[in-house]
Amino acid sequence: MPRLVMKFGGTSVADMDRIRGVARHVKREVDAGHEVAVVVSAMAGATNQLVAWCQQAAALHDAREYDAVVSSGEQVTAGLLAIVLEEMGVNARSWQGWQLPILTSNAHGSARILDVNGTELIKRFKERHEVAVIAGFQGVHKETGRVTTLGRGGSDTSAVAVAAGIAAERCDIYTDVDGVYTTDPRVEQRARRLDRIAYEEMLELASLGAKVLQVRSVELAMVHNVRVFVRSSFEKPEDIDPPGTLICGEEEIVEQQVVTGIAFSKDEAQISIRRVQDKPGVAAAIFGPLAEANINVDMIVQNVSGDGATTDLTFTVPASDYQRATDVLIKVKERVGYERVDGATDVAKVSVIGIGMRSHAGVAAKAFQALAEKGINIRAITTSEIKFSLLIDAIYTELAVRTLHSLYDLDK
Ligand code: ADP
Ligand code: ASP
Ligand code: MG
Repeated sequence: MPRLVMKFGGTSVADMDRIRGVARHVKREVDAGHEVAVVVSAMAGATNQLVAWCQQAAALHDAREYDAVVSSGEQVTAGLLAIVLEEMGVNARSWQGWQLPILTSNAHGSARILDVNGTELIKRFKERHEVAVIAGFQGVHKETGRVTTLGRGGSDTSAVAVAAGIAAERCDIYTDVDGVYTTDPRVEQRARRLDRIAYEEMLELASLGAKVLQVRSVELAMVHNVRVFVRSSFEKPEDIDPPGTLICGEEEIVEQQVVTGIAFSKDEAQISIRRVQDKPGVAAAIFGPLAEANINVDMIVQNVSGDGATTDLTFTVPASDYQRATDVLIKVKERVGYERVDGATDVAKVSVIGIGMRSHAGVAAKAFQALAEKGINIRAITTSEIKFSLLIDAIYTELAVRTLHSLYDLDK
């Protein structure tokens, strides 16, 4: 029998009415003869509330207890959905991460899934025609036995890992949009839904700010070759051929555009170190300690110095790490030798993504011109094989996204 994972995000399980709607989607697939594992998120807003409570309890708290608290949102929805399914005449049982188990690393708050044991689920598909309703976002550390969580948006990753663990033929991600769009439809109304997108492009879109899928879920899907279909839970449950976006191998995409999509992130901070000594070992003396402090450095721009003695070095870090990063730099000031550190947190990164860039020159140059015409200053630029990113003032984010969206004809 074909096997399916169905994942429902927070807005899709926001209240009892919506949970009943979800149950009808599940029943449709069961009636069509599928073996179904469902992965659910916490009700919309629930995780934010739980995170806020941890903050109120103590600004600095033990990550193990953070996980004990924030993992509870998913437990509630898994139980509720199982109850509603049973009431509709569908055999169902809820599962928490530790019960399967979903084994993870020990990195509380952003743990990585190591293994999903699907044996019991498969047995119950066969023997009882039972739907498994799995709490997303959570797992268990295999040595300590403590509950872990996978980082914000982590239920997507739970779903893909379960799909790989039970060898499902597809992982359907139900959300509040009917697929992956050329950019966030909340920012550009003319954004278009993509029928298909390659894993690599989706990986870039997600890591550069499009939160429709958690980055790790795309990584896992790519590694295990899980076909992921993003679709809306707001469609009628009876609809058997819904619109959506298939995330698949590059070879399955017939019509390849040069630019596929645009992502943005306002969670950026810029740090510029002025008059750094221009000599071997300086970059290591700066980025080594930042890496040790677990700070993710992203765009790095360094000038060739004019006088051969000093230069400026600019890079970005997540806005949430800005303070810690400046603290680290102050500590290494003597060893590195620089004049001062300037910083800005009112910056944003806008990125243009497309596999077609591999074989097309001049894609980025067009963007520089178009933004200049709108009076948008570019603070830093990075490029790689299938994307380029621009750091700009945060107030221009929406304007830049819309400008680039129409520049590359994504609205057509
Ligand atoms: P869920 O709660 O179902 O996990 P999320 O809020 O995490 O849903 O993700 C869905 C949201 O992602 C959409 O409402 C949309 O605003 C946003 N989004 C950002 N970029 C994109 C994109 N390129 N395509 C579709 N949605 C996007
Ligand atoms: N409930 C978690 C969050 O809000 C996980 C998820 O929804 O994917 O981050
Ligand atoms: Mg999400």
